[in-house]
Amino acid sequence: MALVNEHFLKLQSSYLFTDIAKKVNTFKVTHPKSKIIRMGIGDVTQPLAPAVIEAMHRAIDEMSRKETFHGYGPEQGYSFLIDAIIKNDFESRGIFIEPGEVFISDGAKSDCGNIGDILRHDNSIGVTDPVYPVYIDSNVMAGRTGNLVNGKWSDVVYIPCTAENNFVPDLPSRRVDIIYLCYPNNPTGTTLSKDELKKWVNYALANDTLIMFDAAYEAYIQDPDIPHSIYEIKGAKKVAIEFRSFSKTAGFTGVRCGYTVVPKELKAFTLKGEGVSLNKLWNRRQCTKFNGTSYISQRGAEAVYSPEGKEQIKATIQYYMTNAKIMCEGLTDCGLKVYGGKNAPYLWVKAPDGLSSWKFFEKLLYEVNIIGTPGVGFGPCGEGYLRLTAFGDRNETEEAIERLRKWTR
Ligand code: PLP
Repeated sequence: MALVNEHFLKLQSSYLFTDIAKKVNTFKVTHPKSKIIRMGIGDVTQPLAPAVIEAMHRAIDEMSRKETFHGYGPEQGYSFLIDAIIKNDFESRGIFIEPGEVFISDGAKSDCGNIGDILRHDNSIGVTDPVYPVYIDSNVMAGRTGNLVNGKWSDVVYIPCTAENNFVPDLPSRRVDIIYLCYPNNPTGTTLSKDELKKWVNYALANDTLIMFDAAYEAYIQDPDIPHSIYEIKGAKKVAIEFRSFSKTAGFTGVRCGYTVVPKELKAFTLKGEGVSLNKLWNRRQCTKFNGTSYISQRGAEAVYSPEGKEQIKATIQYYMTNAKIMCEGLTDCGLKVYGGKNAPYLWVKAPDGLSSWKFFEKLLYEVNIIGTPGVGFGPCGEGYLRLTAFGDRNETEEAIERLRKWTR
């Protein structure tokens, strides 16, 4: 008899976006003529950069000839992409990363979710609250979170990020083995300054804590003082793994490519206290369970770093950030309190009049036909907020704000 991993059974059966879809479907049935504007799910809407398309076309042509065909590639990724990443994402910021420290993947979600494979089941976990659900759910699956009690996992340390602390997490009240930090943040759209991030690196150095740093939205940073990589902080290579993605940087949500940096000096420990290289373990894990990202995707990702590619993706990011600006200004004019949206494509909107996240969601859906994501779906501290994304089409974004202006008038 095969036994299941019963930790999976602890996961809540319904998923936030499924609940939203159900409510939207009900609305559509009862209001067939209403034009809905979607500002909820964090997917991009603009096409790939021409430089990426050209590179992928060339890669497909190579695949069509025996002499230039590519079969299995290196599990860690092709060196042409790893070299471009090191040169453009790290060297340009004065960070030294070796080729063997970069692992190309099919995106940050897989890596954030799979990294736990190389860590013991009984490590203590800390997350900022609200949080990107993958960090929690993947640890539920591994048995690290205890049980769900009143919306919180009993063995997870939740670190509140609220308007009261300006969405800057305090250090945890009790020591944690692993902490997940995501900056620029999904869902709040807020960031950490260098000094604030330094506090976390120093905490990790002093407490032997491993930091999982998710920088999937670093390309949206506009303010030159905000760190793009945790490795901008001295000592971080001893304590942090960094996740990156081409999804939001370059519209690769449907192409799939990302990467993870696991520094060689980063160690975790055996029960006997022996230090073990996480780089070696992750390499072993990837070689066993992953067969590389497609050659075509990796050639596309390489083109993101070409001079034309850089210009083109910058223009798309500016397009989304202009949406964010229009949304921030419009929502504020409507008397709503808005956070984020300055260095991230997400806006974190406080529900007016003490409404709950779901009540605010329904009000927007039924009264202005706009879909957001209820903040409470990202954790208890998300209650009373709604996440809006700036990934929409410009005309729809403007129309949404116009509807909101009329609605609040
Ligand atoms: N990390 C965060 C914080 C995200 O919001 C997302 C996607 O929405 C991901 C990772 C996953 O990105 P990818 O498409 O590379 O799997």
